[in-house]
Amino acid sequence: MAAANQSVMPVVWMPATVQEAFALYEEYFPDVEWIAGGTWRQIEREKGTAFAGNIIALEQVSELTSVHEEENYMRIGACMTLEELIQEPYISREILGEALRQIAAPAVRTRGTIGGNIMYGHGDALPALMALQAELEVWNGRSYARLPVEEAASYEGTFLLTAVLLPKTPEASAGDVHFFEKIGRREAFTASLLAVSGCARRQAGGSWKARLALVGGKDAPVRLRRAEACVAESGWTPEAFFKALEADYQPGDEPFSSGSYRLQAAAHLFLSRLWLEDNAEKGGVHNV
Ligand SMILES: Cc1cc2nc3c(=O)[nH]c(=O)nc-3n(C[C@H](O)[C@H](O)[C@H](O)COP(=O)(O)OP(=O)(O)OC[C@H]3O[C@@H](n4cnc5c(N)ncnc54)[C@H](O)[C@@H]3O)c2cc1C
Repeated sequence: MAAANQSVMPVVWMPATVQEAFALYEEYFPDVEWIAGGTWRQIEREKGTAFAGNIIALEQVSELTSVHEEENYMRIGACMTLEELIQEPYISREILGEALRQIAAPAVRTRGTIGGNIMYGHGDALPALMALQAELEVWNGRSYARLPVEEAASYEGTFLLTAVLLPKTPEASAGDVHFFEKIGRREAFTASLLAVSGCARRQAGGSWKARLALVGGKDAPVRLRRAEACVAESGWTPEAFFKALEADYQPGDEPFSSGSYRLQAAAHLFLSRLWLEDNAEKGGVHNV
């Protein structure tokens, strides 16, 4: 059945507005899907997931293909490609730029979009966006709504992602640490096993006011609120951090990485930024 479907050419629709795109989606639901750069979707098709009978290509929706500077945030259209965003000076110097530069290779980054990276569910941009407190702007058929990045997967009902709203942050001060780190099976051109990100401001007593997030394997992205609460306490320890992280994140085993590996790796990546630099003389993080 799947093979039969695969051989039928889907109808490709090219709407010019968000509202047209949404109306087409509703008209052809459930035999319909949106496509942006198509880089992820093409791989899924090759793995055996046939295209729906109706494909709504988003590339001509002009509202989705620009970046605007607003008073408090940058509005990044969902169909901006990863490479276009890397060229934007404001984005490039932030950890979002760091995350985008590490995705795949130029061929994928030139076609692949920020919206596709978010909506396939495990993109490397997700933890950086969460650490930077970005919000998503979506069209739900009646109105535009805003939601935190981590709520996209659990949003009730259909929506079209229209933009990412990236808050303008003041220049980082001396005590700030912003980081993005990714682990893959190879140095480059590989899906990540784990990507972690954080924005942290040093407080008194070795504590941090931090926003920490990760995405690992096929897990949904997680904002690490217990880990954030742990490092906000003065006198926190790597052991306490590990327990808090374990409560936030319970990864399952996958073909190329066990859940326990991803948990340990995440702990070490965060601790190398939040603990090791201040505490190297105390023996680092070997007790975790
Ligand atoms: C060789 C290769 C290597 C890769 N390496 C990485 C990597 O290192 N890190 C990483 O994060 N990713 C990686 N990817 C995955 C992915 O292709 C890219 O991250 C890219 O950003 C996806 O964007 P796209 O526009 O091509 O998405 P598409 O394939 O067009 O869409 C992806 C999904 O999102 C949905 N969608 C797209 N736009 C919207 C929207 N505006 N509203 C609602 N739904 C939408 C589509 O319906 C589809 O389900 C890789 C892909 C390939 C082929």
